[in-house]
Amino acid sequence: MTQSYDFSTDAIRSGYQRTEEGENSEAIFATSSFVFENAAQAADRFTNNAPGNVYSRFTNPTVRAFERRLAALEGGEACVATSSGMAAIMACCVALLEPGDHVVASSGLFGSTLQFFKKYLTRMGNPVDFAKIDQPSDWQSKINSRTRLLFVETPSNPLTQLADVKALASIAHENNAILVVDNCFCTPALQRPLELGADIVIHSATKFIDGQGRCVGGAVVGDSKRVGENVYGFLRTAGPTMSAFNAWVFLKGLETLEIRMQRHCQSAGEIAHWLQAHPAVDQVYYPGLTDHPQHQLCLEQQSDFGGVVSFEVKGAKEQAWSVIDNTRMLSITANLGDAKSTITHPATTTHGRLSDSDRAEAGITPSLLRVAVGLESVADIKRDLSRGLDLILSDR
Ligand SMILES: *Cc1c(COP(=O)(O)O)cnc(C)c1O
Repeated sequence: MTQSYDFSTDAIRSGYQRTEEGENSEAIFATSSFVFENAAQAADRFTNNAPGNVYSRFTNPTVRAFERRLAALEGGEACVATSSGMAAIMACCVALLEPGDHVVASSGLFGSTLQFFKKYLTRMGNPVDFAKIDQPSDWQSKINSRTRLLFVETPSNPLTQLADVKALASIAHENNAILVVDNCFCTPALQRPLELGADIVIHSATKFIDGQGRCVGGAVVGDSKRVGENVYGFLRTAGPTMSAFNAWVFLKGLETLEIRMQRHCQSAGEIAHWLQAHPAVDQVYYPGLTDHPQHQLCLEQQSDFGGVVSFEVKGAKEQAWSVIDNTRMLSITANLGDAKSTITHPATTTHGRLSDSDRAEAGITPSLLRVAVGLESVADIKRDLSRGLDLILSDR
């Protein structure tokens, strides 16, 4: 893989080695194990003295093609594919942290990530503190002599606050720690954290990489030592492995990622501006709006503004729920990154298990809605949201 292509080309052509069958589309290697020419070759492969396939927990050609392609798109030396986004976060933490190492993470993380940090990572001997995503000084103040890992998701869900990745990378490196960025919301089509100084990128491939809501999967991308040896070594032993079929779906997803992200962003931008002008809407959260507090930072570190728009309707929970219940097309689900637009009421779903005060601190109000804008006609999405929004006006 010495030839270097542009992003769009790598997304379609990199990472795969065509077999002697001459297939144009990548093959699914649905086999759990691989056979050897003779006993000596088996011995060499098992002891890592010779490259080659052994067993699909840690060597599968379809999975490897997905890993190489995603590594190329993120600009990383190595990628390890995992059975889910959460498995990627677990593998990264377990493989890279020593007992006693301290973690600082952004508050307002994906719910299961937050649970994993609070309930399990802490129990494994890795205390976690939380910092305000948009305030590097707050991260600095949470660091102690045992801090080895900073973890951030940017933009945040659902309020689309950004972390300054360059600033957090400097803070991490000045303190002998690494910066891990969950790049699920942007994908490498919009943001490449490794180029901004981050050490590791995490993906939930379940979202935009799949792009059509079919499979669950994840990935860790980074350098050949931490990811290629340490995370890979953990995966080989502990086995949170991606299946060949799922890898194939994600491989195909990457081929159309850039063009899909362009459409997600364009439609989300149109919806955000339309909502901002709607009399039933109080506040819109979208980094593409010039009054977003980090609009400028977004222009610097992302190539576009993303596909997720959150907004507060005039009123409270009742009005927010009425917007949801008056949709006929949008999917009422918390998933995102799908061709199908989805609508969620964060306060009673993704953030429903938080205490009232934690929820208020996270800025999740009862009137907040989140729309992950899909690939349908923008006019149809607006019409679907209009029914509930117009009712709010007529009820007043
Ligand atoms: C969905 C998601 C995850 C977890 O991924 P799974 O594939 O569901 O395990 C992690 N981080 C973010 C930001 C997500 O949206």
